[in-house]
Amino acid sequence: KMGCDAEHIVMLPMLAHGHLIPFLALANQIQQTTGFTVTIANTPLNVNYLRSTTANSESKIRLVELPFCSSDHGLPPNTENTENLSLDRIIDFFDATKSLKAPFYNLLVDITRKQGKPPLCVITDIFCGWAVDVARSAGTVNVTFTTGGAYGTLAYMSLWLNLPHRNPDCDEFNLPGFPDRCRFHVTQLHRFLRLADGTDSWSRFFQEQISESLQSYEMLCNTDEQVESQALEWLRKFVKIPVWSVGPLLPPSLLNKSNTSKQHSGKVPGLSAEKCLEWLDLQEPDTVLYISFGSQNTISASQMMGLAVGLEESKTPFIWVTRPPIGFDLKGGFRSEWLPEGYEERIATTEQGLLVKNWAPQLHILSHQSTGAFLSHCGWNSVMESLSQGVPIIGWPMAAEQGYNSKMLVEEMRVAVELTRGVQTSVEGKDVKKVIELVMDKRGKGREMKENAAKIGQQIRAPGSGSLNDFVTSLMNTRQQQSLPNS
Ligand code: UDP
Repeated sequence: KMGCDAEHIVMLPMLAHGHLIPFLALANQIQQTTGFTVTIANTPLNVNYLRSTTANSESKIRLVELPFCSSDHGLPPNTENTENLSLDRIIDFFDATKSLKAPFYNLLVDITRKQGKPPLCVITDIFCGWAVDVARSAGTVNVTFTTGGAYGTLAYMSLWLNLPHRNPDCDEFNLPGFPDRCRFHVTQLHRFLRLADGTDSWSRFFQEQISESLQSYEMLCNTDEQVESQALEWLRKFVKIPVWSVGPLLPPSLLNKSNTSKQHSGKVPGLSAEKCLEWLDLQEPDTVLYISFGSQNTISASQMMGLAVGLEESKTPFIWVTRPPIGFDLKGGFRSEWLPEGYEERIATTEQGLLVKNWAPQLHILSHQSTGAFLSHCGWNSVMESLSQGVPIIGWPMAAEQGYNSKMLVEEMRVAVELTRGVQTSVEGKDVKKVIELVMDKRGKGREMKENAAKIGQQIRAPGSGSLNDFVTSLMNTRQQQSLPNS
């Protein structure tokens, strides 16, 4: 522990599950290393969600509800994340999050009054740039936290801040912040960005929030200094404020391995988890392909068919987390017509693979020694989880900054090969088979990717690689030097 319990840090994640979880992980780490009081503020339903995920843990994080009424903003009642919102309502929702400004300020004032001094800092989401002003008014400073990696965050920020970033006649373009060799392609752009021209409401929201965030005192990035050393250098040059790499914020179960040999992860609750592990135990080391598109994304019906055909033809053992394809109710039942005729029965008879409906125990699968590759949408958590276990990746980016993550995995880290991008493309069985063979190959490119992934895995698992301590020390020093307001 580093210091007096009297210090208090208040955190505010963007209203989305993908942001709440890394914020909670960061909060726990700060609390455990410093002994400070750490509060996470959010809207009532999101606080409930955080409460349920911390219920059986030793987490000492304080959770505070900020009032938020979505219907006041013309949104459906109880809208506190983007799930179930159509594309044109999402931006209304993002705009509505700015109404948290007053309640967040009141919370800071309240804490200051009770403790006799303002919080040491507030740590807020990069999409809550308005918090810079709030923190200043409350006598403290804002630290902006990006839940993504350095490369993906830099690409995302630079794209928004440099609109229009490309000539409409050309699909390829260079991006400020990146060296010329990093050519970007229009198919790598997030769907909001493809529609943006700099004057629409999307552009206005993101440009405003991101550029205000860059007025923060410091920035925290959910990455590892060694693993993304190059991208961190580019990011630091671009944002011009100090950047601390405090990640990757992975569960201890993935980090506590002293070598690259993967072990059986033990029994876990839930039938499907046990079934997966039992089945994995029967496979040869490094032979299984794990397939998942994260917690939100799903592919098109025709892509699903192509993927199924390619998997079967490759004869590679696999675990596939299947979801209803685009256009179908994600919470509805699974229909066999989404797969080739007799597919499920054949796969079961040959024991080639497991089809897991909706949700799989990803951490257990990735850390199992039989798992040899991961076909992934390249969400940042999935990427870091996979690399932490030395598992190379087949990229199929869908949304958010996944296209840039995938680009980095292929071009910079050389641990991945891309199958396709997004949901509009046609995916042929033979392409799937080819890419699987390439990654699983024990020689050539497959072997190279595997070796690179193993090296990165070691760096991620190396103890004490995060700079969280340095970040806190710098804050404390600043407080002591009385250069922080009101200290
Ligand atoms: N996850 C899981 N089982 C699944 C799908 C996802 O456990 O079937 C977990 C995965 O381990 C990761 C998170 O959900 O921690 C997904 O985060 P990521 O950043 O990869 O993608 P997102 O869901 O935000 O698109």
